[in-house]
Amino acid sequence: MNYANIKNCDIANGPGVRVSLFVSGCTHHCKGCFNEVAWDFAYGEAFTQQTIDKILKLLEPTYIRGLTLLGGEPFEPQNQEPIVKLLRQVKAKYPEKSIWAFSGYLFDRDILSGKLGKPEITEEYLSYLDVLVDGPFIEEKKDLSLRFRGSSNQRLINVPESLKTGSVVLWEDWQGNGRGIKG
Ligand code: SF4
Repeated sequence: MNYANIKNCDIANGPGVRVSLFVSGCTHHCKGCFNEVAWDFAYGEAFTQQTIDKILKLLEPTYIRGLTLLGGEPFEPQNQEPIVKLLRQVKAKYPEKSIWAFSGYLFDRDILSGKLGKPEITEEYLSYLDVLVDGPFIEEKKDLSLRFRGSSNQRLINVPESLKTGSVVLWEDWQGNGRGIKG
């Protein structure tokens, strides 16, 4: 896997101040995509253990609330294994920090079905996520007032609760119930 960018102080892609990893490669090709250069799987730099070490270091300050994965497409089959390698290490070192991911695939239709790569890798990947923002960017549904997403079709999904209940639980609904979630 290659990656396009790492941001060390991102306040736009999830709650609080976060470290964001923009991976390379995306097959969705949404009209109006915010990051077209990252469609190319060969764009950017090689993602290595050195990159993981750099991200672990960037996550260290207490004001960093967590890690966000974007792209490109973090759920393309060839991107999943390197990301799981990263998440294993992040969770081991910082179990209290939240992990968010953005995907153009749909959680229930595409990701849970296990058709994107190896099912055991996808399963492990999901076990590390707190929130998944799913669905492609649809220019006709663009809405700048929405929090953490570009178009109104995209959903902010509470992943642990959705896996537990077997149906899609939205992050806002969960928060609205006052039960709180690491986010
Ligand atoms: S899924 Fe994201 S990165 Fe891929 S084309 Fe759509 S907006 Fe761009």
